[in-house]
Amino acid sequence: MANSKYSYVKNFELPDPVLPDTFMLFRLDGHSFHRFTDVHGFEKPNDFRALELMDHAARSVMEEYPDIVLAFGESDEYSFLLKRSTSLYNRRESKIVSTLTSLFTSCYVLYWPKYFPNKPLQYPPSFDGRIVPYPAEKHIRDYFAWRQADTHVNNLYNATFWALVQQGGQTTAEAHATLRGTFSKDKHEILYSRFKINYNQLDARYRKGSILLREEEPENKKASKKAKPATRIVLLHCDIIKDDFWNERPTLLA
Ligand code: ATP
Ligand code: ATP
Ligand code: MG
Ligand code: MG
Ligand code: MG
Ligand code: MG
Ligand code: MG
Repeated sequence: MANSKYSYVKNFELPDPVLPDTFMLFRLDGHSFHRFTDVHGFEKPNDFRALELMDHAARSVMEEYPDIVLAFGESDEYSFLLKRSTSLYNRRESKIVSTLTSLFTSCYVLYWPKYFPNKPLQYPPSFDGRIVPYPAEKHIRDYFAWRQADTHVNNLYNATFWALVQQGGQTTAEAHATLRGTFSKDKHEILYSRFKINYNQLDARYRKGSILLREEEPENKKASKKAKPATRIVLLHCDIIKDDFWNERPTLLA
């Protein structure tokens, strides 16, 4: 581009590289989704279609960015792990955050009618995004454990809260009061004794969140060693806190 006497202003743009040789953890979260879910009549405690839409948008982001090796979604948020060695956009933080957030958001809007065919969008949803760099594998494991523990705590609370309201006839204020000071085992007990709900039998999508990762296509496992194996993105709703998940995938954080 031609220089002009004005072009010095470009020098005010400072570089913002993410520290080399660190894992970038990119997380986005729906902006004011308390309101968005109200306005669009999401089912409580969990609108299944909305979670599927989040998974679909996240999968599209992973298809576009091969350096994303793992993703975890719950509620209105999704976390994406970029491989440690990524040189995506020369590791420019704002470039990565803004492009990925924007791609996710436009996919969410593009695929909305597939999941809500009878419910047009009332206003444009938006998401915030951030990157946190983590130096060690331990941090990455603890990060995903943190998000999945959050999924569990929120879902147990919400499942009990909405059972009290929808099946127990309590007002939302009464349900909050009923649950004040209760422990996990008390909520299991309320669910089971009052509503015959076995928490552990609720959909794993609600209890465990959504995990997206790449797996080798089975038919390619025996194929020529030279060719780069074809991969596909798979969606799981499994435990990501215990060692098993990580032991079964020793190259995930390589
Ligand atoms: P912020 O802009 O600070 O993120 P927020 O209103 O989005 O504000 P969150 O803490 O992100 O606050 O909470 C998300 C809200 O969206 C919660 O109220 C949650 O219950 C609701 N929500 C998200 N996904 C679903 C879903 N699939 N079904 C029902 N409710 C949902
Ligand atoms: P980057 O991701 O680094 O921004 P880019 O390819 O988007 O890469 P830009 O410097 O942003 O590069 O340039 C945007 C390009 O889009 C230019 O080639 C510009 O001419 C073209 N473009 C943008 N808006 C229009 C428009 N309304 N009509 C025609 N061309 C456009
Ligand atoms: Mg431009
Ligand atoms: Mg928030
Ligand atoms: Mg939010
Ligand atoms: Mg949230
Ligand atoms: Mg551009």
